Amino acid sequence: MKNSKIQDIEEIGEKIKRPKKWKKVLHKIEQMRSSQTAPVDTMGVSFVPDKNIIEISPQIFHFQVLVNALLSSQTTDQKTSQAVDQLNSSLKILTIQNVIKTSESQIASLISCVGFKNKKANYLKRIAEILHNKYNDNVPDNFDDLVKLPGIGPKMAYLILMVCFDKKEGLAVDTHVYVISRRLGWVSKEDNNPEKVRKELQRWLPRENWKEFNKLIVGFGQEICSKIKPKCDQCPVSKYYSNSNSNSNSDSDSNSDSNSNSDSKIPNQKIPNQKIPNQNILK
Ligand code: SF4
Repeated sequence: MKNSKIQDIEEIGEKIKRPKKWKKVLHKIEQMRSSQTAPVDTMGVSFVPDKNIIEISPQIFHFQVLVNALLSSQTTDQKTSQAVDQLNSSLKILTIQNVIKTSESQIASLISCVGFKNKKANYLKRIAEILHNKYNDNVPDNFDDLVKLPGIGPKMAYLILMVCFDKKEGLAVDTHVYVISRRLGWVSKEDNNPEKVRKELQRWLPRENWKEFNKLIVGFGQEICSKIKPKCDQCPVSKYYSNSNSNSNSDSDSNSDSNSNSDSKIPNQKIPNQKIPNQNILK
């Protein structure tokens, strides 16, 4: 992919330059997603509450969202959901108080299906103590306090703010958002880390689209445009690619697990040698 941001843009007002046809492409993805569910729809961060509990307080919901986000790093939605369910059933309900009462080793064993279980168990115990002692058993509703919590990075903080407090302060750029934004030419090739991609997307994507954006793109990545072996023959947006300048290596620096959620660097991905429509521009 060449620098589509520069080659193919539309000017909005004086300053904001957006990729051409971005709205149409997003709409096509929305249509595809409305007829085809993905793991993120039933196991994503906003679906954390114990399914056996009819109603939980906002306080507990916020904590469970945070735990889900914490566990989701480098882990699939399925495994994350399994771990949260396990915590909910074994602790009777996943609350700050119950995490404080439970030993770190027991928590590690309850979340054994996720990656880095020992580290995450340690983070979870420390977070529960901090929320209890410093925030009166509440999850903080601002970015600065969230990213001070052990194991909580910017992507998680933005998701938590969005899901818990309806605050659109930033876009959560995980593996799918990173890879797909680059494939679609929504960011330039030089935007080669999640932070650069986040900033570039935030520069032009209207804020009204932020809330649904992550879930929309993650589901698209889980079902169609996976990092490894994207199903281009089923892709609703392939026709928007130009036929010239075909390039299948445009996302050559993202990471490995196609369905995992990563809040960390996305280094050195090798995309398989398969034909992918031109990832340069959207016409
Ligand atoms: S054509 Fe293939 S690589 Fe391009 S967006 Fe669709 S699935 Fe992804």
